[in-house]
Amino acid sequence: MSKRDYYQVLGVEKSATAPEIKKAYRKLALKYHPDRNPDNKDAEEKFKEAAQAYEVLSDEKKKRQYDQFGHAGLGGMGGAGAHGGMNMDDIFSNFGDIFGDIFGGGRSQRQRKSDPQARRGHDLHKEMQITLKDAFLGTKKNTGYYHFVPCETCKGKGTAPGTTTHQCSKCQGAGQLNFRQGFFMYSQTCDACGGQGYTIPSPCTDCRGKSRKQVYESIDLAIPAGVFNGAELRKTAKGDAGVYGGRSGDLLVRIQIATDKKFKRVGDDLICSMSLTYPQLVLGSQVEITSIDGTKQTIKIPKGCPVGERIIIPGKGFPQLRNKMRGNLVVITQCHVPKKLSADAKKKLTEYSGIIGTDTKETEGFISGFFKKFLG
Ligand SMILES: [Zn+2]
Ligand SMILES: [Zn+2]
Repeated sequence: MSKRDYYQVLGVEKSATAPEIKKAYRKLALKYHPDRNPDNKDAEEKFKEAAQAYEVLSDEKKKRQYDQFGHAGLGGMGGAGAHGGMNMDDIFSNFGDIFGDIFGGGRSQRQRKSDPQARRGHDLHKEMQITLKDAFLGTKKNTGYYHFVPCETCKGKGTAPGTTTHQCSKCQGAGQLNFRQGFFMYSQTCDACGGQGYTIPSPCTDCRGKSRKQVYESIDLAIPAGVFNGAELRKTAKGDAGVYGGRSGDLLVRIQIATDKKFKRVGDDLICSMSLTYPQLVLGSQVEITSIDGTKQTIKIPKGCPVGERIIIPGKGFPQLRNKMRGNLVVITQCHVPKKLSADAKKKLTEYSGIIGTDTKETEGFISGFFKKFLG
């Protein structure tokens, strides 16, 4: 199932502000609210789609990823189903506030069906170093990491097969004990259940009642061409599993691009320098340059080309992530000054020096112009 653009889903411009996004979502959520559209599958899908779009566009981090990479940047959002595993309970628990009092306590009627002690798992963070060439071409990487997954034996419940949890008799499931001292009420974590509100009389032997287990898993990451240094790729639900059936956290992989010896990146431009001989610069020439991906580019050095000149090959730079455009390949000219010369070459060069004389009247102008070219 292909996903619609989130901005399109909410019917807002890309430049929309946070309040505009919220307003647009609220309008849609009210329109497709299940209480107004009982047994209407289509409305339910639209309701979920809007919630999904809002979940991303209302979260500064996720929005930035989406803006940079589109749906791919949210990695595997669709993995747990067409709407990223977001069910009605999730929507009401995450965004229920948006409905205010309109549906008269609609939220409380729709309490999460899962265990009240269920907690969402942690997001995990990982760094991955790639080369500048990888960033230019895009790459697939495999990486391994430890994370918690729900225990298979007890299906994330923590109880031995056929048994259930018992409400804690000391705190009556509250997880807290209240007591009075003079005028004041104090509360403290229940020592009988450790604040959980329930006990497990027969814990699952596999996970010892913890409901999840730590495993080492390797995961494939598709890194898009044009990725920026510091970009974070999100793998939804690949972080730690929640406790007692809670939702899983996400895995966030931060991309670090190693510096390259020959090439630099400035914005979407790929920059390199090229050493040319003095005659090549003076007389002009055609030379071949090998780009970062190994492709050859022919560049024309104009007659009287100064050192530090930026020769631009349009459209041969980094691909832009949000569209099909590319930056430029920029070649900065340098002059190769030989340390050793043959007797013949030395004779000719001395002769040439005599012809042009040694006066360089514009010395100062040349130096300032040189730095301006490099820095500008
Ligand atoms: Zn278990
Ligand atoms: Zn208790």
